[in-house]
Amino acid sequence: PTFQVPAYEGPPKARYDWYQNGEQVVITVYAKCKNIRREHVIADQVGKTFRATIYLDDHVYTIHLVFSYFFPHDLSVRVRSGPVNRADFILKKCRQSQWAKLGDPKEHNDHLQPVKERELIFRQCKVHSVSQVTHNTKLMTFELPEGTVMHVPTGYHVYLQLNVNGVNINRPYTVITPSFSNKDGDKMKQFYSGSFVHLMIKIYRDGHLTPLIGNLKPGDRIMISDFEGNFDEDRLTKCSDLVLLAAGTGFTPMVRLIHQTTSGKLQKGCVKLVFFNRTEEDILWRNELDQLDKQHKTFKFVNILSEADKAWPWLRGRVSESNLKQQLTDLQPSENPRCLVCICGPTPFTQAAVKIVKSLGYTDDMIHLFTS
Ligand code: NAD
Repeated sequence: PTFQVPAYEGPPKARYDWYQNGEQVVITVYAKCKNIRREHVIADQVGKTFRATIYLDDHVYTIHLVFSYFFPHDLSVRVRSGPVNRADFILKKCRQSQWAKLGDPKEHNDHLQPVKERELIFRQCKVHSVSQVTHNTKLMTFELPEGTVMHVPTGYHVYLQLNVNGVNINRPYTVITPSFSNKDGDKMKQFYSGSFVHLMIKIYRDGHLTPLIGNLKPGDRIMISDFEGNFDEDRLTKCSDLVLLAAGTGFTPMVRLIHQTTSGKLQKGCVKLVFFNRTEEDILWRNELDQLDKQHKTFKFVNILSEADKAWPWLRGRVSESNLKQQLTDLQPSENPRCLVCICGPTPFTQAAVKIVKSLGYTDDMIHLFTS
């Protein structure tokens, strides 16, 4: 019997090369994919060990080496898109020298595999700062290790890992911008540096992990993984209007969508956030959202509370056909075929919301569900 090698169906395989001068070594990955962006590349250098992770559609290409010589932690990453996309990893040498070789391969060097099959990599990160957002939710900023560069794509999450009684527990959290405004200079500089991760974390009193995360102070350590997710940022560019249906911390994936559409990066017809919470105290970044609503004619923000006290003068209840119909009257799917509806919250909320928006005429290609 003849044995046939199954056809390779992934993206074109990438390859890498390296070159040097007296001061630096540059490792270059050549990849035939569309529009490589810095969010497609993660670099990790720990001592002599180097790992580069490059996301090519639904595959991941990795370089994993033990260098022959030491580098100080002075790593930068440059990506260039064109007919051949390339990512350069630039490492400064400790002293002027010529290297006879780069190093030795480790597991998964020059290796391509489906994203779904790869194992997440965790790095030990440092808590940089913590601030209170509401009575039970904190904005936590984590500093990645010195040799790591990671820009997390919009709408993607990372896992936090803590060891509880000898067992590693992981929880996903969507990476946010620490502000809606690029004028928040230092905070946003951190965000764009690729060396920090900002997360909004709700502390559940009876939770397994969150009370421990809630006790973390600046300087404490925690493990953070690579990112995961499936939001295609191009959808944001292509859509005309944007409807965001968020419940509780389901607001977190919406933060960067709101930032991009209100900070001038993307011009949108209308951006409407319908935000479902239990009580007034639970509304995340309420002042910031109110301010955006006042500043931007195209941004609208509506609160609906399920456990409001008597004094609450605005909308009440959970997600329903009547309240969504009322909120979306100006965004009829037949008149706005390029409208995008993004939904995130507790699973029953997401399930109910998607059913309702479909019954209102929005089709699958007009809907994105954030789930993890
Ligand atoms: P919560 O329990 O405080 O509820 C917030 C609101 O959700 C309620 O006021 C109500 O309007 C709605 N809701 C809750 N249960 C509902 C139900 N059974 N049916 C219809 N509506 C319901 O919310 P929370 O504690 O902040 O939880 C937020 C959820 O969002 C978590 O489950 C979290 O996992 C999820 N989340 C997912 C992602 C993601 O997948 N990318 C990101 C962030 C948060």
